[in-house]
Amino acid sequence: MRRFFYNPAQDTTEYVLITGAEAHHLKTVLRMHVGAKAELYDGAGSLICGEIEQISANSVSFRILSRRQEQESCSPLTLVQALLNKGKKMDTVVQKATELGVHSFVPVITRYCEPQGKDSQLLQRWQRIMLEACKQCGRPVPMQISLPQPLHELTFPAVSRKIMPWENETTCPFAALGLTAGQPVTLLIGPEGGFHIDEVEHAQASGFTTVSLGPRILRAETASIVAAALVQNALHNLDPLP
Ligand code: SAM
Repeated sequence: MRRFFYNPAQDTTEYVLITGAEAHHLKTVLRMHVGAKAELYDGAGSLICGEIEQISANSVSFRILSRRQEQESCSPLTLVQALLNKGKKMDTVVQKATELGVHSFVPVITRYCEPQGKDSQLLQRWQRIMLEACKQCGRPVPMQISLPQPLHELTFPAVSRKIMPWENETTCPFAALGLTAGQPVTLLIGPEGGFHIDEVEHAQASGFTTVSLGPRILRAETASIVAAALVQNALHNLDPLP
């Protein structure tokens, strides 16, 4: 079924109005017609199944057939990702993190990162990729994405379990972390050039546990996706909904 985001202000109890780019996409690109059904998300966890009742010049009106509320995970995962410089690697990480149910995505600038262009444009681009991924994978609550910020300026909530995959970690495999559901987790992944030793020490002093993802050095985007999947699995965030 097709999926669209709507503005909660356009939700009466019986009907939802889709406007703007979503309405344009629905009418002009997908050429949906009266009677077609779709899933509608308000971006805050409300999920509606609706049927198109009327199509007009600037909007599409859906009759609400059913409605449910998505539950937030009690173990949200925050992925802190150093900016990746080459090609579209950041786009890939944003897309896959969205699919894996990462709650928040925090791009950070570390010693071996290069500036990538205007932060506001990057953020807009990642937001667009993330919303597309939400629609594709059926995720009703968008991933929160921050503007890039220097790693050393970040503060991390005390309650969060902090994990830093590091290729030079030789004693702590992922399984030794003993992760269980019920606690927020923060994952910190380095750029292509890795972390400087000062950054590793700073992270450890801030409560991060360094962990190995195996004896091979993974590309940064592979490390992000693998680590996010391992954490989400350990936290039961990949279990089917009841
Ligand atoms: N510059 C480093 C080198 O060549 O030795 C490699 C950095 S790696 C491409 C980028 C990031 O992925 C690292 O900062 C780390 O967070 C993560 N990573 C890659 N392989 C890993 C492994 N085997 N164990 C833990 N983390 C890994």
